[in-house]
Amino acid sequence: TIGKNLNLNNNSSSNQAAALNGGGTEDEYKKTGLSRKFKPPGAPGSNTGGKKNEQCEQLKGMDQKLIDLIENEIVENAANVKWEDIAGLSSAKESVKETIVWPMLNPQIFTGIRAPPKGLLLFGPPGTGKTMIGKAIANQSGSTFFSISASSLTSKYIGEGEKMVKILFKLAEMRQPSVIFIDEIDSLLCARQENENEASRRIKTEFLVQMEGATSREEVRLLLIGATNRPQELDDAVRRRFVKKLYIPLPNMVAREQLIRRVIERESAKGNAFDMSDQDILEVVQATKGFSGADMTNLCKEAALIPIRQCTDITNIQSSDIRPINKSDFVKSLKQVKATVTSKDLAGYFDWNNQFGSFE
Ligand code: ADP
Repeated sequence: TIGKNLNLNNNSSSNQAAALNGGGTEDEYKKTGLSRKFKPPGAPGSNTGGKKNEQCEQLKGMDQKLIDLIENEIVENAANVKWEDIAGLSSAKESVKETIVWPMLNPQIFTGIRAPPKGLLLFGPPGTGKTMIGKAIANQSGSTFFSISASSLTSKYIGEGEKMVKILFKLAEMRQPSVIFIDEIDSLLCARQENENEASRRIKTEFLVQMEGATSREEVRLLLIGATNRPQELDDAVRRRFVKKLYIPLPNMVAREQLIRRVIERESAKGNAFDMSDQDILEVVQATKGFSGADMTNLCKEAALIPIRQCTDITNIQSSDIRPINKSDFVKSLKQVKATVTSKDLAGYFDWNNQFGSFE
């Protein structure tokens, strides 16, 4: 096996070297700061072949530290989210599949009037599946998933935010098809405020420049997804750039039932037993009106802990010794876990959706 592995590794590095030859030397490649984890343009599995020189050139002079940072913290694995994991939201999912995923799978036929929107805004209460949709899109379309929260651009990477934005878009283009998911987009692209500091203003300007560049070229297979709980704070220009704006609401009864049933199915397969009849599930669903998907998940987690708390010798028990989770655990947990979204918030989303949302 060791020999086999070595062989494979040798093959892949010679492939990489081969891909670089003709476009530039290995040294030249290193100078661009593009780390090993990235497929060089033209390498097997990279669909950006043919523009090697140009692309190495594009990364030249860019900060290696920031490239690594994006690679390690921002490129995420989206493989674990599938459409069926997302409860409810059937019309949003259908619409996203048709208008965004299909074109990403077969860009040749979705051109001109059929070209997909390159900016998608997902708005609605927190914890309703916006991030899950972003990951499912990336997963289903075979895209590289870049995920960052806008607040980390403005606070965590102090002083580097502007450069980060530039490199982020550049790498996304090199790794296309790509999905860039920006959480809390409102905090980055809010309407101009008097007390806005210079650094945030510059990040915002850079972001808009990059967004304009990436979305105006049909050949760039990049989807920008902005997620927000505060769509009202987006400025007009930004709102227009996100051509498609989908409301991701709280789960209705059907969706809450799907969510609980899926948790039961998934957890039972892992050996965490439930003892819940259809009637029990229905009662929990009725008692959770106004809960977000994240609230529902928290409720299930809380309920799942109760049988464990009742065990005396926690270090020596097996999972088969733990009694199944039942309705009374959910009833108790409902005293701890409450809906996090208020009806006032909901009214705000409803109005904004009526005014600006994309309806299918
Ligand atoms: P958002 O991005 O809208 O704030 P997320 O997509 O990050 O919310 O969801 C947070 C968690 O809540 C998920 O990891 C999942 O456990 C649960 N969740 C939220 N919405 C759904 C949904 N529609 N279906 C299944 N689980 C959900």
